[in-house]
Amino acid sequence: MQEIMREFRCLRCGHEWKVPFGGGRQIACPKCGKDKIERTNRGIGGPHRGRGKGFRGGRND
Ligand SMILES: [Zn+2]
Repeated sequence: MQEIMREFRCLRCGHEWKVPFGGGRQIACPKCGKDKIERTNRGIGGPHRGRGKGFRGGRND
């Protein structure tokens, strides 16, 4: 089974860390404790999924 990790970065101190998917929603920086964070995922669960054509579709009969 593949474990999906989410990457975050603190906008306050710049600390970066990962948390396993499915954890608590309230995430704060483990370093400074602030919740001013942003996600820095690299391609995992991004807005652009499935590149290329012919991915689920093209029903030409
Ligand atoms: Zn921080």
